[in-house]
Amino acid sequence: MSQVERMQNLFPRCPICDSIKGYKFSAFYPLVACKSCKSEWALYENEMELKATSDTDSARDLLNKKYSFNFWRELEEQGKPKPQPIGSTRPLVHTLRSFQGQIKKLRSEKANLQAEIEKLRKVGEEQTRVMAEEIRALEEEVATLKKESESLKESVGSLA
Ligand SMILES: [Zn+2]
Repeated sequence: MSQVERMQNLFPRCPICDSIKGYKFSAFYPLVACKSCKSEWALYENEMELKATSDTDSARDLLNKKYSFNFWRELEEQGKPKPQPIGSTRPLVHTLRSFQGQIKKLRSEKANLQAEIEKLRKVGEEQTRVMAEEIRALEEEVATLKKESESLKESVGSLA
């Protein structure tokens, strides 16, 4: 089996351009070239190396590196819309998980806020209580001073 035939069997569609035109030997024998996009490959036993491509996009990054046939097959399939199995619940499950995660996060944020509010409220109560005590203490002091000044007046009166 020639390299061209091998390529034809392995990749009925060109991994780069998806063409079914087939392959021929390139000027650089035994490299195999796509008849459509002129991409050239070196075939190994289990791997394939892209040696040249006219493709201007990401395919250039793949040049001169050996990759498994599976890699090239997956690349070939990437461009095509993947058929979604009918009745598949996977996207729904994913959406549900994502929502559950968000809800969990929001709940913990809410709990943190409630704890913060509770803390502030306690501080407020504590401050009010302390101030009330201070006021009461001041009132007592004022009352004591009044009594003292009255007794002083009496003393002054008795002296006069
Ligand atoms: Zn091609």
